[in-house]
Amino acid sequence: MISEILDRYQKYSPWQLHATLDEIFVGRVNSLVANASAHGTLEAAPYVAITDGLYTALDQCVVLWENVSRMQAEVLGLMHRSDPSDDDLREYIEAQIVKRELPELTSRLIDLKLFLVDKDPGFLPRYQNRTELFLLSREGVSDVDFGHRKRRLHLAEGFFIGHELAHILLGHIGSHTKPAAQEYLSRSPALEITDNASLPSAHRDEIQADLTGYREILFASTWEQMRREGFHPLGPDRSQLGLIVQCADGIAIAILAMYLLSALGTAPTNVSTHPHPNDRFTALTTMMERQLKKIIATTSEPDMGTAGRGFFERVSSTPRQVHTIYSRCKGILETALREVTHHP
Ligand SMILES: [Zn+2]
Repeated sequence: MISEILDRYQKYSPWQLHATLDEIFVGRVNSLVANASAHGTLEAAPYVAITDGLYTALDQCVVLWENVSRMQAEVLGLMHRSDPSDDDLREYIEAQIVKRELPELTSRLIDLKLFLVDKDPGFLPRYQNRTELFLLSREGVSDVDFGHRKRRLHLAEGFFIGHELAHILLGHIGSHTKPAAQEYLSRSPALEITDNASLPSAHRDEIQADLTGYREILFASTWEQMRREGFHPLGPDRSQLGLIVQCADGIAIAILAMYLLSALGTAPTNVSTHPHPNDRFTALTTMMERQLKKIIATTSEPDMGTAGRGFFERVSSTPRQVHTIYSRCKGILETALREVTHHP
């Protein structure tokens, strides 16, 4: 999967980035603890390492996402109207979360991770011969959500890699960036958003890497590949809108996975250098909403999607809905992390 994603980035991202991207090696490393990271020295080629720990956190967050988004769909169905208030939604989902024991399951999985990393001696007596405690019931999660799993994982992985590549392209690590890439990225809206926000410099680097990784690498290369292969079923503008919306939940899941690992104290760098995950996701949705608005304002394509009229309205409200699911998932992770720290 990594080589497939890297090939796409090297071939379909904006041409100004190609010479720099061609020199970067990306690989998966067998470490349970660390996050993804990018490295570079003056002499050696820069490289990006994605750890097994990040992939296991990602799997956990995808399952969480499937359950919470299913609940959101249930709320919409139960209320027979398209826009329940945030309070209605929160109340319903919180009731369901208790019923489905999602925080308990999540904290058990975190326990398992800590056992694998630190060999916590209390783990085996607690859970021996009780493997059923680690399985989440499929009940209540729709086939539709399972159908999204592959796409979500793929986009989340693409975002991890895009974020780390962006650190190298932006010159945060060593000095490997070619002048054409520097010139190109200096005009990117990703830098404009972060320059206007008042952020500590370490946080600004992270948010710049998020926005550049998403806009200039993940989105740009996926769209360019679709375009060249002639695959845009709804017409170019509406297909771009659809792609932005698809990136939104994949990236939200990636940010949750990185948050989970950082919260467990397993990030390679000091956690305080990382911006709060809410700030990261808010910056990303701000950028996505701008992209959506711009395309909708200038398109000549009809306001019609696979589900009929009103496509632009549906697309415009998606980042907000994704944000709601993101907040619920993050709340569950926080509850689960608190439970873990309360074990004797
Ligand atoms: Zn970073």
